[in-house]
Amino acid sequence: MSQGVRTRPEGSGQPLSEAYDTALLDLDGVVYAGGNAIAHAVDSLAAARTGGMHLAYVTNNALRTPDAVAEHLTELGIPTGADDVITSAQAVARLISEQVPAGARVLVIGGEGLRVALRERGLTPVESADDDPAAVVQGYGGPELTWGRFAEASYAVRRGVPWFASNTDLTIPSGRGIAPGNGAAVEVVRIATGAEPQVAGKPLPPMHRETIIRTGAERPLVVGDRLDTDIEGAFHGGVDSLLVLTGVTDGAQLLAAPPQHRPTYVDADLRGMLTGQPEITREGEGFRCGGWTATAGTDRLELAGDGEAPDGLRALCAAAWTAAGDGSCSLDGEKALARLGL
Ligand SMILES: [Mg+2]
Repeated sequence: MSQGVRTRPEGSGQPLSEAYDTALLDLDGVVYAGGNAIAHAVDSLAAARTGGMHLAYVTNNALRTPDAVAEHLTELGIPTGADDVITSAQAVARLISEQVPAGARVLVIGGEGLRVALRERGLTPVESADDDPAAVVQGYGGPELTWGRFAEASYAVRRGVPWFASNTDLTIPSGRGIAPGNGAAVEVVRIATGAEPQVAGKPLPPMHRETIIRTGAERPLVVGDRLDTDIEGAFHGGVDSLLVLTGVTDGAQLLAAPPQHRPTYVDADLRGMLTGQPEITREGEGFRCGGWTATAGTDRLELAGDGEAPDGLRALCAAAWTAAGDGSCSLDGEKALARLGL
């Protein structure tokens, strides 16, 4: 095992909302799902804010403007200003502005969020490969984006115009199921051109940098539901993270997480921001958290005891991550997770 690899979730004697100055919250699967607020999100965020924590919302979705996202959150009962919303459109616009002349034309394959972000950086959105663009940028365009837009991108990229993408999430959740995300659209252009875009969104550094610039956070806590975007983004940014189980990550994925996907803290939902986090202690060959003790056996994880489900999961994480070291745990955790209802 290399030095510094996380082998268990950490404890915190202080409520997380007091130990950190700013929460950098993911939206889908953390604050809302399918447009509706997730259980306990509204009350927990209100309490964290009342306690003095600054709340900012960080999304890879480049379609909606910060104004539109802030309005949606406010309607859900989470009063939010546009300044507290950071999108991958803003991150990619800054990235582009650092590589093209001031005021340069940028071919946009995407939605309004991308156009607004480019203008904010003094760039000029254009619609055709024949408009002599200095860059091409691709962001999620929603159901109205037509095939002809990918052709436009391909013409320009083939000519050698630098190509950027807001993010490369392959899928996007919708009320009716899983739809192709911007990453799928980027693949279309990649296949047609053989080129590689520069990408801004989570888990990559341009997005984290944009978030820190805009919030001025000194002790940020990333709060997310996805291991390969939110938690990995925090890992690369060198900041702490809280994984909540209200979104796409299940217990088995968490136990199998390699080091860059291991969060600092784990909790069921956003109420975890308002509390301390229990210590996990070594007990013989196992790890104890609350009333649970988890042990790594030869081919599976064992769980003994009783208590709160998140404590059992924390103990299992310690057993699994310690056994895996800097790899990924392959021990069977199915039975242990079933005991926790996870
Ligand atoms: Mg999410």
